[in-house]
Amino acid sequence: MNTFQNTLAFAQAQDNADPLRAFRDEFHLPQHDGRPAIYFTGNSLGLQPKAAANALKQELDDWARFGVEGHFRAKHPWVSYHEELTASTARLVGTQEEEVVVMNQLTSNLHFLLVSFFRPNGKRKIILTEQRPFPSDTYAFASQIAFHGGNPDVDLVEVQPRVGEHLLRTEDILAKINELGDELALVCFGGVNFYTGQAFDMEAITEAAHSVGAIAGFDLAHAAGNLKLELHDWNADFACWCSYKYLNSGPGSVAGAFVHQRHLGPRPTQGLPTQKRTLRHGVPQGPENGDPAEVYLGKGLPLFAGWWGHDKQERFKMDRIFKPMPTAEAWQVSNAPVLSMAVHRVALEQFDRAGMDRLRAKSEQLTGYLKFILDTVAKETKTNLEVITPKDPAQRGCQLSVLAHGKGRGLFDALTARGVIADWREPNVIRLAPVPMYNSFEDVFRFGSILQDTLQGA
Ligand SMILES: *Cc1c(COP(=O)(O)O)cnc(C)c1O
Repeated sequence: MNTFQNTLAFAQAQDNADPLRAFRDEFHLPQHDGRPAIYFTGNSLGLQPKAAANALKQELDDWARFGVEGHFRAKHPWVSYHEELTASTARLVGTQEEEVVVMNQLTSNLHFLLVSFFRPNGKRKIILTEQRPFPSDTYAFASQIAFHGGNPDVDLVEVQPRVGEHLLRTEDILAKINELGDELALVCFGGVNFYTGQAFDMEAITEAAHSVGAIAGFDLAHAAGNLKLELHDWNADFACWCSYKYLNSGPGSVAGAFVHQRHLGPRPTQGLPTQKRTLRHGVPQGPENGDPAEVYLGKGLPLFAGWWGHDKQERFKMDRIFKPMPTAEAWQVSNAPVLSMAVHRVALEQFDRAGMDRLRAKSEQLTGYLKFILDTVAKETKTNLEVITPKDPAQRGCQLSVLAHGKGRGLFDALTARGVIADWREPNVIRLAPVPMYNSFEDVFRFGSILQDTLQGA
């Protein structure tokens, strides 16, 4: 553990000793008054890798040159483009390769996975989530519950912090899971809560959910590229994440999904096309006497199917019966969005080179330094800057959420005017996310002096 100092010399010495320092030059840094702004919003939109432009240009050029034949003749053939992302993705989130697929966008993936993993049955119908999940997740959970005929006011439960506390205690989460017991269908938490920055113990939550017969899924929007993840070993059932926050893949870029090995095929529908079929209205049907749910959804987990989830050896036979891939690709509905995947590919390649272990080690130092700077400035300016994010580095990612009592929005606007790009969340939190891939210790130091000047009215 370093003994931190609030000096430029200290910050620069840390940067010089940082094995990842060269990555900063691989990004476009937004400018303010002729120098790089202090960009602490990689938790909202990661910066652009300089290599993104060429990667995109490659696909545009191949499209111009080959037209439809680019599916096979492009430098990175489009027909299998998503497969080029699989190995890096599996390393990033700690899974087997067959367990992950890059597709769609985050909330869409959450819905597709809920179709498979939230199947309320009798009294087992509750979804348990954290206090104040990201609104899109709340809408997804509530609409899925309503879709199944349930009442979100009753069936969507949030674990609440104790009175006077901001964070959830793991023991309280586990107790709630046990209390709900056989009424619990699904526990679905963020890996890191977007508002408080609290990282949850996904392994313990999964184990508790399974012990009462419930499914455990995670929204990793604020965890992918931020925490070291071991989804396979933690035994989570499913997870999804976006690529435009810590994964630097551009606004609205393509998202990821994980389905644990034990839920993957092979399914009994395989081989069905050779079974006897009948014609109805001139259209070949599934096998005679087959249960339509089994024939068209597969035995085991149902899913909403599309052609890119169909067995790739037979995809272009255009058979009427869905024959799912034996991997997480079974959940893929549409063909790959190559333009956003091109950027995602170069961004993932950076994560491969940097490695989550080194990123995480730097992140703990960098965020530790930010905490030290905030505490120092608070003391010197006699301001109450309350960091609600956990103090224990194991229970947070890079983000710190600050309650500036009585100063909130005004302070935030003043910082923005001085070149600090941070983020304001209602009702009263400033979120600061120094990202180990491209932020520096000097960024944190400069932030501290700007904060101090601002608070002192300089
Ligand atoms: C950012 C974020 C989203 C956004 O969803 P999109 O579908 O990518 O627009 C959803 N959930 C969480 C937890 C997020 O942090």
